[in-house]
Amino acid sequence: MLNKDQFADNHFIRTIIEEDLKSGKHEAIQTRFPPEPNGYLHIGHAKSICLNFGLAYIYDGLCNLRFDDTNPEKENDEYVNAIKEDVEWLGFHWAGEPRFASNYFDQLYDYAVGLIKDGKAYVDDLTPEQIREYRGTLTEAGKNSPYRDRSVEENLDLFTRMKNGEFPDGSKTLRLKIDMASGNINMRDPVIYRIRRVHHHNTGDKWCIYPMYDYTHCISDAIEGITHSLCTLEFEAHRPLYDWVLDNIPAPHATRPRQYEFSRLELLYSITSKRKLNQLVADGHVSGWDDPRMPTISGMRRRGYTPEGLRLFAKRAGISKSENVIDMSVLEGAIREELENSAPRMIAVLNPLKVTLTNFDPAQAQSRYAPYHPNHEEMGGRELPISPTLYIEADDFAENPPKGFKRLIPGGEVRLRHSYVMRCDEVVKDSDGHVVELKCSLDYDTLGKNPEGRKVKGVIHWLSAEHAVPATVRLYERLFTEPRPDAVRGEDGEYLPFTDFLNPESVKEITAYAEPAAKNLPAESRWQFERLGYFVTDRKDHRPEQPVFNRTVTLKDSWQPK
Ligand code: ATP
Ligand code: MG
Repeated sequence: MLNKDQFADNHFIRTIIEEDLKSGKHEAIQTRFPPEPNGYLHIGHAKSICLNFGLAYIYDGLCNLRFDDTNPEKENDEYVNAIKEDVEWLGFHWAGEPRFASNYFDQLYDYAVGLIKDGKAYVDDLTPEQIREYRGTLTEAGKNSPYRDRSVEENLDLFTRMKNGEFPDGSKTLRLKIDMASGNINMRDPVIYRIRRVHHHNTGDKWCIYPMYDYTHCISDAIEGITHSLCTLEFEAHRPLYDWVLDNIPAPHATRPRQYEFSRLELLYSITSKRKLNQLVADGHVSGWDDPRMPTISGMRRRGYTPEGLRLFAKRAGISKSENVIDMSVLEGAIREELENSAPRMIAVLNPLKVTLTNFDPAQAQSRYAPYHPNHEEMGGRELPISPTLYIEADDFAENPPKGFKRLIPGGEVRLRHSYVMRCDEVVKDSDGHVVELKCSLDYDTLGKNPEGRKVKGVIHWLSAEHAVPATVRLYERLFTEPRPDAVRGEDGEYLPFTDFLNPESVKEITAYAEPAAKNLPAESRWQFERLGYFVTDRKDHRPEQPVFNRTVTLKDSWQPK
């Protein structure tokens, strides 16, 4: 459930919107989230989604989902569908139908013809390399193309023939006639159309010319009546072009959109670039875009992150124009914090050590009711069965305990969670000297009360072996060993491939045991395994009879740089 406090507050974009609403500049706001369908959405997009949909929600406006599909080579419907699913899963609803920039190709073409007629656009024959040479540099003005002064008639004729497929790919472009000496390189006669014979996921083979992003985006915003067009800071220098285009076409809508920039999220120990994430998938470093180690929304979902937890993270990341570099622990902290109260708890033993109860007496030993959550009675509870053989976590026993060890030691006692106090009477080892079994006894006078005459400090979790349910458990760690895997330089000063810093121990699959509650769960069922962490039944591989759990996050931040 959304509520208005869930979003970043007190930031400059909210101030702008509040002023615009107060002054009557806009009666209502309209934002948009404009992904390019060339990959799955990642944590950076989650920030942008929470911002755009969040603002619409807070100020009772609307937010469009618009696919910016002007690069047909890399775009496809798999990505379109995945993006829709991710946005909805995060808890948001777009206004009306999803939009596509490609829906506006006809209008964009007509505006381009209008610009030509006004003498504000021309067909250029320079090759891409020549265009680059003529563009100049940051310190040097560009040069006019020799084709810049073609007549309107010639430009109209050539542009029509570009559209009709009379010229080979890349042989001509349509450019805006702005200023080759502008201090802003984006204003040096930007290319707005290129010839590309590529099948488009929406328009098929109708077009062999495609409009460029800068030209398309502002007009799409204007057509949709967007009031506040929010993008990341690298587009700041494109804003004059955004405004130039809208100043030079007949307004398609009464509302004139304005662009505002905020800093993009960078998450340490992770990567926020679709291209690089694509590489991880294509090269088989992960099992797919939704691998639970991926910072994609679908990967994080499969990992067990919740929409509420991700929204909390986005709120904490905040919105500003200053660097937005956030440590992974902030994301994990938000997820943990949210699961603390939403996930019921059960017992599982990941690394079992067998315990034989030498004084087990079926007439005396009682199971005990335990709630699924100490603070949420409404989550219900269950009886925890007990039997002569138990499993405890191997590292809850220490033969030679380190200082301060409060759990089980030879001759020592611990409380079995929700049950009796148990003493370790004998340690059984195999021929290699490994501990394989403990022989222990219960103090039957300790169910629900303290033992007589002594204090037992440690509490450990345990399972009845007879009732334990085997479960596949995947233990995930961070995918990278470096905070900025794509910014490490080698001795020669060159960037090293980010794949050099993949953590070889980012996933370990084990067979563990869980209590009977682990049977017959649906997929995506989130639990705390007491003392161990938060786990979720896998969206793909889990079966009610054969549970598969993914570790979402440990209970404490135990991560240490190597
Ligand atoms: P990538 O570099 O991963 O391909 P992108 O910006 O090219 O990202 P788009 O699909 O064009 O991806 O982005 C859709 C929206 O999400 C844009 O408004 C973009 O500014 C925003 N966005 C993308 N990455 C981030 C990020 N790391 N932080 C905040 N917003 C982001
Ligand atoms: Mg992009």
